[in-house]
Amino acid sequence: MFLDRDGTIIIDKGINLNPNKIIFIEGLFQLLKAAKKRSFKIIVVTNQTIVSKGLKTYREMKILNDIILKKINTKLGISVFDRVYFCPFHPNANINRYKFDSYFRKPQPGMLFKAQKKFNLDLKKSFMVGDRISDIVAGNLAGCITIMIKGKYNKSKLIESSLKINKETIQPNYRVNKLEDIIPIMDDLI
Ligand SMILES: [Mg+2]
Repeated sequence: MFLDRDGTIIIDKGINLNPNKIIFIEGLFQLLKAAKKRSFKIIVVTNQTIVSKGLKTYREMKILNDIILKKINTKLGISVFDRVYFCPFHPNANINRYKFDSYFRKPQPGMLFKAQKKFNLDLKKSFMVGDRISDIVAGNLAGCITIMIKGKYNKSKLIESSLKINKETIQPNYRVNKLEDIIPIMDDLI
């Protein structure tokens, strides 16, 4: 199971994300527990535009990520995530070293394929869960089942990428209001 971070695991606060005020998306813990129980690998795939824009350093972002993951692990009493992939590259980055139209940046599927290789995943039996059409496109291009979690960015335009795609042509396989609604979908699959 692939999870986007902002808007999927936690409320998307962008640059204002305060590690002491992290709010988890409804149903997250139920979903993670259910996925673990069913032996799914749990992998985070997140674009970190704020690094490319120079608003946070790679290190700051990594520390914040670790805080989020640690809170989740503590809450569930287990080590939840198998891997976190983040992409700091952006075609219009302010930081030169990150100015790159990367195959690893969603809507491109690079992070998912990287995980597939690492964990030998069956992508047809994998889920990509996200709140933006970029997540859905990335999941779709990787051949995954795609699930959109309800949120304020559901209808936002496809983020900057050289990928030429008409977003109207790509729709999620499922739309859910709460993350726990994914559990029955999971059960149908296995
Ligand atoms: Mg998101």
